[in-house]
Amino acid sequence: MIHEILEVDENASLEDIAVKFSGFLGIKEKVPMEALLRAINDPSYAQNLIISRQAPGFLNALLADPQNKEYAVKQKKELSNTDLVKKAGTALLNWSKAGFTVVSSEVLEKREDACLSCEHLGKPEKFLQKLVTSKSGEAIGKRAADCVCKVCGCSISKKIRIPSESCPVNMPGHPELNKWGELIKD
Ligand code: SF4
Repeated sequence: MIHEILEVDENASLEDIAVKFSGFLGIKEKVPMEALLRAINDPSYAQNLIISRQAPGFLNALLADPQNKEYAVKQKKELSNTDLVKKAGTALLNWSKAGFTVVSSEVLEKREDACLSCEHLGKPEKFLQKLVTSKSGEAIGKRAADCVCKVCGCSISKKIRIPSESCPVNMPGHPELNKWGELIKD
C-alpha cells in the first residue's frame, strides 16, 4: 500500500523524508529542504505541490519559489530536529491520503456550485496562485478553474477535488456546516 510506503519510522531523518517526498512527487532530484519545510507548515503550498505532480513545469517553479527560504529559517528556529521529523512524518501520510483520492462527481459539482455563488471567490493575485489556476470551462470541475478562494488562498478547482479539504467559512445560519454544506470537522 502506498500509505505504508510513505510512513516514516522514528529513526528517519529529514533527509530521508525529503527523498520519500521526491518519490511521491515523481521527481528524480531530492526535494530541496526549504521546500519540504514549507510544505510541512503551509497546507496550501503542500496541496499545490501534490496537485502539480503531473506538471513538471509548475512543480519546479513551486520547489524553487524564493519564499521557501523564509519557512526554512523560521522552522529551524522554532522546532527541534526530532519535532520536525515527527511533524514531517505525519504530514507525509496526510499528503499521501489527500493525493491519491478524489471526491465523487456529485460532491464535486455541489462544492463547485457553492464556490461559484460565494462572495469569497476571486481571481488569483499572488504568483503561486497564478501558477496553479488554469483556464475555466463549462465542464463540472472546470467552471472555477481560473479562480481562488480569497479566504484560504487555494485554487478552487484543485481544492474541491480533494476529500480531506474543507471550505473555511460557515454556512450562514448553520454553524455546524461549511458553505459547501458539509459538516465542520473538529
Ligand atoms: S471554499 Fe468556501 S469560502 Fe472559499 S470560495 Fe468556496 S465556498 Fe467560498
